[in-house]
Amino acid sequence: MTANQKRTVHIILERGKCAWGQCYFCGWGKKRVEVSVDELKRRFEGFIKKHVSRGGIGRLKIFSSGSFLDEEQFPKDFVKWIVEIAERYGIDELVIESRPEFISKEKLELLRSGKVKITVAMGLELADDEFLAKYYKKGFKVEDYLRAVKLLRKYGFGVRVYVLVNGHPILYREPELQKRLLEKTMKLTLEIADSIVIINAYPHVQSDLWEDWIKGEWKPLDEKQFYELVREWKDNPKVELDFSNYNFIPKFPRSKRIFLKGVGHDYIVHPYYEVWQDYFIRFYKPPQGKNYVLFLPCAYRKPYTRSRTWRAILNVISGYPFFKKLHLIAVSSPGVIPYEYVKYYPFNAYDWPEWLETEEIKKEYIEVTKERVKRYVNAHKEHYNHYFAYFRPDSETIKAIKMAFEELKLSDKLTVILDDETYNQIVKEEFKPAVAHPLAIGKLRSTLKSKLQFEKS
Ligand code: SF4
Repeated sequence: MTANQKRTVHIILERGKCAWGQCYFCGWGKKRVEVSVDELKRRFEGFIKKHVSRGGIGRLKIFSSGSFLDEEQFPKDFVKWIVEIAERYGIDELVIESRPEFISKEKLELLRSGKVKITVAMGLELADDEFLAKYYKKGFKVEDYLRAVKLLRKYGFGVRVYVLVNGHPILYREPELQKRLLEKTMKLTLEIADSIVIINAYPHVQSDLWEDWIKGEWKPLDEKQFYELVREWKDNPKVELDFSNYNFIPKFPRSKRIFLKGVGHDYIVHPYYEVWQDYFIRFYKPPQGKNYVLFLPCAYRKPYTRSRTWRAILNVISGYPFFKKLHLIAVSSPGVIPYEYVKYYPFNAYDWPEWLETEEIKKEYIEVTKERVKRYVNAHKEHYNHYFAYFRPDSETIKAIKMAFEELKLSDKLTVILDDETYNQIVKEEFKPAVAHPLAIGKLRSTLKSKLQFEKS
């Protein structure tokens, strides 16, 4: 086994709860994980053996939501055992996480190894006492952090610094403040650290920041905003840029989930819908190869895929070769919903009782939906070649979609499938829902076939 075959891997070993647990942006520090030390040992050894059999481990990072050196989380014997295992399996470097108050002579003795390089990663976030106390609520000062770094150096340990950007609404509102604090932080940390990770903040469930996000007072930085902010350090060999390790998608804890039933303003621009719409525009990437959109109506039954309409549609079109190029996207009161997300909350837990709509509500629905469609199409226009829309011709949604394409000057890219003539025939039969009628479905199939069968994606 040569050194360059070895890989960097990470394992999440959580136990107990972070001793502090109050950082403004952090949800991990608030949860308690009940697991025995024996179970952790079993998992850890299994993980190590698996990776050693695949060529060995160069650098092993242990993420622990709190402090690996806090005895309440990880007993001393366990810490020693981890180091012994790292030595036994030829790991080059072990990276553990801790808050600075747990960096003591006694704890560092436990971690010492003649064979494995040990690095301690600590979240400093931003190097400003006032900011740390007032906004990030870190519970320590910069001097506490520097004291810990000094001790780590004395014992020959490596130092890895976590820097967190945009972890409070004030930073989102005041980009100049963010810039100034980041510059100050980088100046200090480049002098004291072996490596620095600049992390983009995301809305952790259970954090204060999550509440700000839902209230619309804060948003995560998108790729462009993040890389613009950190541009100055992007080529620095000491600096790692962590835009998306959180695998961000909007998440809602069970305690915050409600069934969203109703019509009107509050049910059109509900905050839960708004954060999803923002996600679909600024973070979401449409699936590769699906370059044609088929906009579809919602259905009473959730998820829509279980409804009569969606089942009829899927039955008829899913067997054709063009199907793999089609991206199904629902358009409804929660907004624009790509197929991959129709089973997610709240798209699987809402109801819009149409019979309660007034003219005013319809007007607002059309306006909001038009804007949402416009933003989605605009954000992903490089990805899609053409758009199909399959709705009742008298529905508010098709009106909104048509208006969106007109305003974007892209009407030539939109094919409206269901025409008045076909629809009127169905209405005469009093068949509901009209979009599940064989005539309508036949029209959908023939339109897609004629437009797509010779198309290349
Ligand atoms: S950021 Fe770290 S120290 Fe702060 S609450 Fe979360 S786990 Fe604890």
